[in-house]
Amino acid sequence: MERRLRLAPSPTGLFHIGTARTALFNWLYAKKIGGKFLIRIEDTDFFRSKSEYAKNILEGLKWLGIKWDEEPLKQSDRISIHKKYIKKLLDCGAAYRCFTTEDEISELRGEQKKKGLPPKHDNRHRNLSNKEIETFISQGRSSVIRFKIDENIQIKWVDQIRGEIKWQGKDLGGDLVLSRRAMGYEIGDPLYNLAVVIDDNFMNITNVVRGEDHISNTAKQILIYEALGFKLPTFSHTPLILNNEGKKLSKRDCVTSIDEFRDMGYLPEALANYMAFLGWSPKSAESEILSLDEISKIFDLSDINKAGAKFNWEKLNWINSQYIKNMETEKLSGIIRRYWDNMDWDPPSQEWAIQLTILIKDSMTLLTDAIDQSKPFFLLPPIQKEGQDFLKNNDSKESLKLILNYLIEQNYLKLDKDKAKEIINEISKMHKVKKGILMKSLRVAFFGSLSGPDLIQSWELFSESKSDISRIERCLKSI
Ligand code: GLU
Repeated sequence: MERRLRLAPSPTGLFHIGTARTALFNWLYAKKIGGKFLIRIEDTDFFRSKSEYAKNILEGLKWLGIKWDEEPLKQSDRISIHKKYIKKLLDCGAAYRCFTTEDEISELRGEQKKKGLPPKHDNRHRNLSNKEIETFISQGRSSVIRFKIDENIQIKWVDQIRGEIKWQGKDLGGDLVLSRRAMGYEIGDPLYNLAVVIDDNFMNITNVVRGEDHISNTAKQILIYEALGFKLPTFSHTPLILNNEGKKLSKRDCVTSIDEFRDMGYLPEALANYMAFLGWSPKSAESEILSLDEISKIFDLSDINKAGAKFNWEKLNWINSQYIKNMETEKLSGIIRRYWDNMDWDPPSQEWAIQLTILIKDSMTLLTDAIDQSKPFFLLPPIQKEGQDFLKNNDSKESLKLILNYLIEQNYLKLDKDKAKEIINEISKMHKVKKGILMKSLRVAFFGSLSGPDLIQSWELFSESKSDISRIERCLKSI
């Protein structure tokens, strides 16, 4: 039998990291077992759902490298089918019309609150006669459809992550509302727990993998599956992603949408790699830097932890830096070029762009670091206090003059690394200046401070546009 998994996102916001990780676990498991990964857009909350969010979710999945196997299904296209099933449940007596008004419900909640009880409907209209129904309808009352939940029933299933889970019927909040309010004998629009069962059954979903916040929904859904005589899928409930304080990662934690991670400079491969390890601990993995294909070979739902997974920025940053380091130079250079283009920075040549990429890539954690790291190669940096102090307290003036003269004598030499080293060695020997002073003075001239990337390689790059000369001259003027 073909095994089929799905992601069923509600397009009520930008693609969230929690949804992305659920997608990833589904996709990895589908790959592992040779099954299919499908998508259903659950867009039946008409007030909150937006087509641009659905688009954002699909684009985010693509960006992360998570491909789906069939055309995504839109839940809103299936409302008339959901209603047919609600009618079926009504007809067989598993569901009924409930006319409780909003005010009556608030009153009931109020009483329960006073007694310290959780909200629960009292199923007051479970046994209305046809006559009573007619009367309510003639009074112009609207109704929802409620699914009967036996108080005494125990719902049990073997969760592929958590083992056996038991739920008592009495703890499900009373009879379950299947549809929104409607007038007369109409059936209102279907609600999540009903629609999800009908659609998962229609899509032949064999394994439902979703967040642990859906555990009580699963108990309700199992009852609907049984009432409709549908075959049950297996269920797995993944741990939530937690923030530093151990609370569910939310919008308050600043960064939660996949777009934000992309804009911050995370690579899709790195983010996906990190997310896979967020709550999953493989029995055997030689490295934590693994491609999705490699992970899918060793992935198993049973290796997902039950406890919440703390989001660890340090680890994500480390993984990202590893991907940057290991990326093919030309590819990375292409990505970095886009950041330069945005800043209107024009490299003198393709080769120069490649050399600068090689120079900065080891000190990049995020792609956006390319801006700061390459900035001194495009814009003249101010001479900072530590640079000024160094120039003042050493033979910098003399050292820089010697270097400048050398370059002028050689007719504005375009340097390579060996030549640059040779110049330092020669001047140091001939004029008895310490190499360290020569190099540090040059560093201040180039970068305005005592830190920065490899000096000799940087010099080679500066010399291509002759900005080594102009920077030395500017520095000399400042001393
Ligand atoms: N639309 C639900 C959500 O986004 C789907 C839950 C499920 O996977 O059944 O939470």
